[in-house]
Amino acid sequence: MKNICKIHNMVMEEVEMETRWGLIKFTQEYRKAKEEIFPNSGDSKLGGCMLDRKTPENKKALVYICPKCKSLKEEWLRQPGNRIHSHGGYLNMDDIKRLYAQLRKTSFPAYGKRVGDFVLYDSLLAGYTDRFFQEEFFIDYSNIPDPDRNIWQLVGQLRNKKELQTDEREFLCYFDLLEEIRCALHESNN
Ligand SMILES: [Zn+2]
Repeated sequence: MKNICKIHNMVMEEVEMETRWGLIKFTQEYRKAKEEIFPNSGDSKLGGCMLDRKTPENKKALVYICPKCKSLKEEWLRQPGNRIHSHGGYLNMDDIKRLYAQLRKTSFPAYGKRVGDFVLYDSLLAGYTDRFFQEEFFIDYSNIPDPDRNIWQLVGQLRNKKELQTDEREFLCYFDLLEEIRCALHESNN
């Protein structure tokens, strides 16, 4: 069931939250703690999977919050030195590497094969990121691949659906991960 926290086996509260577009710079420690200790503590779309559906304006997202995750996060934040956001700094190589490693671990969503040029976009972005690691200082930023209009259209439709099928949800999670990488690449040019 989607409203049960898989780690703590507790019923989660459904909360409507503002969608945050773009990249949020979390500290690496926070990302790690969130992933392992309190995945459903309810901020942002870290990992992509928390975005369930949005209103037509695409401004709000339905987020599930587990009470145990929430209190564990508060506890984590009370430890000296633990912070959520990085010092306004730009994403660094390690962030992009970590996102890319996560992408490599994630299997390509079956649904993605049915979407026009999604296979192509996926491989272009992966190829670009590979090159980025090899030739960081010589990379041509004007060539970062973008999802095409068909992909955006489909993503918009899915985000507005009330109930998502498992394959649709997997596809959106995967797309969000690609978006994190794409934004990170753009940001590294700042
Ligand atoms: Zn939990």
